Amino acid sequence: MTHTLDRPPVRPPKAAAPILAGEKSRTETFLVKLFAVVPLLALAAAVPFAWGWGLGWLDVALAVGFYFLTGLGVTIGFHRYFTHGAFKANRGLRIALAVAGSMAMQGPVIGWVADHRRHHAYADREGDPHSPWRYGTSAAALAKGFWHAHMGWLFDREKTNAERFAPDLLADRDIVRIDRWFPALTVATLLAPAVIGGLVTMSWWGALTAFFWASLVRVAVLHHVTWSVNSLCHLIGDRPYAARDKSANFWPLAIASMGESWHNSHHADPTGARHGVRRGQLDMSARLIWVFEKLGWATQVRWPKPDRLARKLNPGYTPAPRGFATGGPRATGQSG
Ligand SMILES: [Zn+2]
Ligand SMILES: [Zn+2]
Repeated sequence: MTHTLDRPPVRPPKAAAPILAGEKSRTETFLVKLFAVVPLLALAAAVPFAWGWGLGWLDVALAVGFYFLTGLGVTIGFHRYFTHGAFKANRGLRIALAVAGSMAMQGPVIGWVADHRRHHAYADREGDPHSPWRYGTSAAALAKGFWHAHMGWLFDREKTNAERFAPDLLADRDIVRIDRWFPALTVATLLAPAVIGGLVTMSWWGALTAFFWASLVRVAVLHHVTWSVNSLCHLIGDRPYAARDKSANFWPLAIASMGESWHNSHHADPTGARHGVRRGQLDMSARLIWVFEKLGWATQVRWPKPDRLARKLNPGYTPAPRGFATGGPRATGQSG
């Protein structure tokens, strides 16, 4: 895939330019929903067919367990802690988070953090590694942009400069070592469920079904949920807070993403330890950080400050009705 930074379709906003360029057409929103939902429905439809011979409770338990272990390694570890410094961790927790996040198979920790810091530095502008707005706002451009932000950007050959974006991690010998262990941790995350499944059932078949559901399917689902934060959560949802980009809160993914789909709130207050800052917004990652704090493993946690958030509220914000809200306040006029 050739790289198009030399003719940027996503122009840096001019000082007085509105943050939104109108609303997407029905076709555009339909395409987004189609791409996001249909493959998952197909996977769900496969479950009853496999139940009883190729899928059982042990496979489900292993899949859910590894999903949340590795997912929280990414959300709490790679994202809130290593990228944004939302809290301070003791050495044991720091290493455990780096290892658990690496087992999500989303790349080694230093590259992940460098990409994500670059995303915040250039969100939805030229230089953002994954913006769904990269190619423009027509239906075709958004379909292409959705693909790029979701998954296509991973196939780009460009590499974020870790020396610029993650010098703190390059300076930590333990973290550099875990970064280099990434291939071994990938093997471990794929084999561990199969080994457990095989030992518990004392059968090769048990090892195979655990490998299929708790290794392959689990990794694939977590990939899509994480990528959806980059694609869907910059396209559709509610925008209560003023941010310089098109980040949005997308409630249907709150549980699966462990709180990361409150992405508009996150862009408004990137170093906050809690993303679901409003009443009723589930945020499992924040809850676990709270437990780490109580245990004394995490300190100096940056919990959201209500007055600071109130100042960032979009003027004229009205909550969207529950559902696939597409708009948010238009042209609120804050400059970039
Ligand atoms: Zn974002
Ligand atoms: Zn972030």
